[in-house]
Amino acid sequence: MTKTAIKTKAYAAVSAGAEVKPHEIERREPGPYDVLIDIKFCGVCHSDVHQVKDDWGGAIYPMVPGHEIAGVVERVGEKVTKFKVGDRVGVGCMVDSCKECGSCADGDENYCEKGNIQTYNAMSLDGKNINFGGYSERITVLERFVVKIPDNLSLEQAAPLLCAGITTYSPLVHWKAGPGKAVAVVGLGGLGHMGVKIAHALGADVTVISRTNNKKADAEKMGANDYVATAEPGAVEKNQNRFDLIINTVSSAADMNAYMGMLKRDGVMCLVGAPSEDLPIKAFSLIPKRTTLSGSTIGGMRETQEMLDFCGKHNIASDIEVIPIQKINEAYERLLKSDVRYRFVIDIASLK
Ligand code: NAP
Ligand code: ZN
Repeated sequence: MTKTAIKTKAYAAVSAGAEVKPHEIERREPGPYDVLIDIKFCGVCHSDVHQVKDDWGGAIYPMVPGHEIAGVVERVGEKVTKFKVGDRVGVGCMVDSCKECGSCADGDENYCEKGNIQTYNAMSLDGKNINFGGYSERITVLERFVVKIPDNLSLEQAAPLLCAGITTYSPLVHWKAGPGKAVAVVGLGGLGHMGVKIAHALGADVTVISRTNNKKADAEKMGANDYVATAEPGAVEKNQNRFDLIINTVSSAADMNAYMGMLKRDGVMCLVGAPSEDLPIKAFSLIPKRTTLSGSTIGGMRETQEMLDFCGKHNIASDIEVIPIQKINEAYERLLKSDVRYRFVIDIASLK
């Protein structure tokens, strides 16, 4: 960092599985294409828990998690054209990419051939600094990786759209969820509840596949037409050959073959959940119905803005429980027990 770096209060984990605690970091002064954002709220994604615990390997500490950032523009570099001071903006899971490969040229920076540069648990593009996420007072980000939050959405309820929203919107649109399509969302958590709302707004016939019946009434309010509780006897058998598309948000190892059986001929199951364990798939989950098992990660920047505008138009936002940052370790414990309806969002005022 240069001498002109901005001292910033944050919360960090200093080693694998350590509690997330107060930690001071530095943000760069905005360069010509940078936006300095005063963070107001940050969502708590299950990926934060995976990464703090180093579930996926290769974690970089100290780690300031947080990739569902909503705030207000505090300052802009002299070449910034998209944003001005006072704008309500968001930052999601990536803050940079090579900007030269075919994926970046197509606006699919999330599929950058050199790997997108994540908001945290990553080094900056030049390899010199650790990137720190949204559990902090402010962040400096290239304008290309900043999006506008629609006026009719509150910052706290919009924050989860930056990851949970785009991660479900992108595969729903890619696999053409819409009228006449039977879409199931597996796992009614942070991603899942956004997936249900978005799929419903796209016009699809939506079913929630959850483990128990506990979330049934909530699912209906979100726009689900049907609900399958897999713990009920015979639930999987009764729902064979039903869905054109399954968006699977499950965060830990589960029997993927059972879900594949619920697809129709030529159906697609798209994994967005990212368990650290290998997921065994039987050949006979794919062959008899020409089904596809796919995956998807977040979305490109153009698509992220499109998703926010879509959510603004349809008044779609996250169901949240706002917490002070001092409760973050407790929130992680509750998230692991699926004890959240449906996203924790940190009020960053509690850090200032
Ligand atoms: P979350 O709020 O904890 O929701 C996950 C849901 O999965 C739970 O609510 C639960 O739903 C279900 N579930 C958990 N364990 C299960 C098990 N053993 N068997 C069956 N269902 C189970 O987590 P999230 O924030 O939505 O994140 C979900 C996953 O997506 C995480 O692995 C995260 O890292 C990943 N993710 C991926 C991307 C991407 O770009 N692909 C982006 C963000 C997050 P029910 O209680 O309804 O059964
Ligand atoms: Zn996330």
